[in-house]
Amino acid sequence: MTVEPRTTNYEPQTTNSPAVGPERLQGQGLDPHQYESGDRAIHTLLTDATVGPQTDLVITYRDDAYEVWAKRGMIRFERTYAEDGSGYEYRIIEQIGDNPVANQDRRALATIDEELAASKASGFPGIEANTAYIEPEHNTYPFAYERIAQLFDSPNAPDLVVNPKAYAFGRKPGQHGALDVVHARSPLVFSGPGIKQGALIDAPSRQIDIAPTIAHLSGFPLIDGKDVTGRTSSERGVAPDVYLKRQDGHVLDEIIDPGSDARPERVYILLLDGQSNTELKFRLANDPDAIPNLRRLIRNGSMFDYGSLTNFPSITWPSHNAIGTGAWGGHHDIVNPTYYLREKREVVTPQGQQFNTAKFLGDGVETLYEAFHRVFGPWQGQHGAFTASIHEPCTRGADHATLERLVIGDRDRLKELTARHAGDTSPKWLEDDQKGAQGESIVDGRGVAQAIVLYTDEGHPPPKFMFHEFTLTDGVGHDYGPHSDGQRVSLDETDIRVGHILAALEAAGLYDDTLFIITTDHGMAPVDASLKANQVRAVTDAGMKAIIPDPLVYLIDMAVEITRHEDGRTAMIEVLANDADESGERPPLEGAEITLSTHNAKVLARAKTDNGGTCGLPLPLDVAATEMFITVHHDDYNPRHLRLDGTSVREDIRALLYGTR
Ligand SMILES: [Zn+2]
Repeated sequence: MTVEPRTTNYEPQTTNSPAVGPERLQGQGLDPHQYESGDRAIHTLLTDATVGPQTDLVITYRDDAYEVWAKRGMIRFERTYAEDGSGYEYRIIEQIGDNPVANQDRRALATIDEELAASKASGFPGIEANTAYIEPEHNTYPFAYERIAQLFDSPNAPDLVVNPKAYAFGRKPGQHGALDVVHARSPLVFSGPGIKQGALIDAPSRQIDIAPTIAHLSGFPLIDGKDVTGRTSSERGVAPDVYLKRQDGHVLDEIIDPGSDARPERVYILLLDGQSNTELKFRLANDPDAIPNLRRLIRNGSMFDYGSLTNFPSITWPSHNAIGTGAWGGHHDIVNPTYYLREKREVVTPQGQQFNTAKFLGDGVETLYEAFHRVFGPWQGQHGAFTASIHEPCTRGADHATLERLVIGDRDRLKELTARHAGDTSPKWLEDDQKGAQGESIVDGRGVAQAIVLYTDEGHPPPKFMFHEFTLTDGVGHDYGPHSDGQRVSLDETDIRVGHILAALEAAGLYDDTLFIITTDHGMAPVDASLKANQVRAVTDAGMKAIIPDPLVYLIDMAVEITRHEDGRTAMIEVLANDADESGERPPLEGAEITLSTHNAKVLARAKTDNGGTCGLPLPLDVAATEMFITVHHDDYNPRHLRLDGTSVREDIRALLYGTR
């Protein structure tokens, strides 16, 4: 595919404010020692015979700019401080072909009918909602520049991140994780004291806005904390203006009833993992007797018509912690379910290990549990703020946290309540032989028992802040698809559980002054499971050395320095691992094979690095320096090809992809 070279269809720069690159830059994105391997990986991901047609975007950071590559075009953009102090602004500094993330319409694909129309426009039948596959040209990328740039602020961020096409990710009929609006839109409802009743809100919202909104409604004081730019109020020269230690989002004022001064006594987040917003809206509009308990909260509250945009990648562990801290994954540092710690040479998988994952959350953020304790005091007996996390991946600071094995409450009573509500589990899961769904249903039943115990146990105050994960909607969304009969049964079943909780709060006299929030951690898109798409595998299949916890790619590269001696007869080559280790140094690489050759591949000299990572090379006097090339090979690293001046020899990726020079 050839794209007409075009570099003019973006807004001309209006300011010369300096670019603001990643916070804590420690290897994320591509440094000059990785341009060769980085370009090769980008080219492979976009052109591989199998993976190329399944890949929407390949995204990276290099040389002060963020890059978004697609077959249909590419952009480089810079991040700058907004002149009005409101955070960041973004400006495009290069474009070839189409800007692949130009369409950032947050209102797009807001109903199942619109998803079907987009699928039809994409060349698919557009008849069945559960297989309404959508091509990138008919999808949108709300808040794309911010959601991309934030990721690279964490030292745990990758060199490259792959954005799959919405329908080409994994082996299940439903999936999420991508940048687009179907993968990344969550429902968002606020209901309770001080909230507009029966309101449908058309305002932009991101999941990082939930925590500051809760803090505001709960009467937290403003503090001298960091905003999205990572600078404290005092560093920005303003009075305390945030509610949390790190607050990337802002208060969603649109939901607040100006005619009411009621404020909540406590907060309950009901997180229906992976619940599609379009599916929820379809049920509310077309199934008047269904989901009466969720409907009651929605009727008494404010619902964001176009939902709320999640973290990128739009995946469980990063997204839950973004909700619970008000900070993007690039700032709370759980950047993906699984990621690579360069300095430790270690892959960690909080989502895989499930339990005891609070330790992965970065020091730069504050969870709502911690903030409630800061404002209302630590929980001590009948005093202070009691906080609870039920099956919720954001846990740090919670007094009750199932996933930290901190369970408050009488075990016998928990067992008795779990048994009493066992009948809530639909027979469908066993009839369909869906052991995953059956297991998730049982877990959610235990969650209800925990909630009832926590609000009725007289050994402690009722939870001031509760964050409660319901897992069945996600598992069934993956296994049956986002608009399947199974998904509908799972939402009905979850609604029954919500009903038990609301009834328990009412019986305890706690319902009326509780603020409820209904949301999810990500969307759910129909996926063509027959593709078994796993884009990042193409990088290692091409023989490259990389760590590939999808959709992230960490390239394993060598830093090579060439020192030519004064007499022109010899050069010293130093080869280091490009990623610094825990000492902060790049360790030397022994046994790297160095070849000096001419342009037409005539070998002039060979050498191997010693245990200091260095070797010497004789330089023939009869060959011009510009005619000599150095190749570096090591079995565990991507090869390097360099000129004697140390610059990389690499193919022009713009020419390869777009026919430009
Ligand atoms: Zn999830």
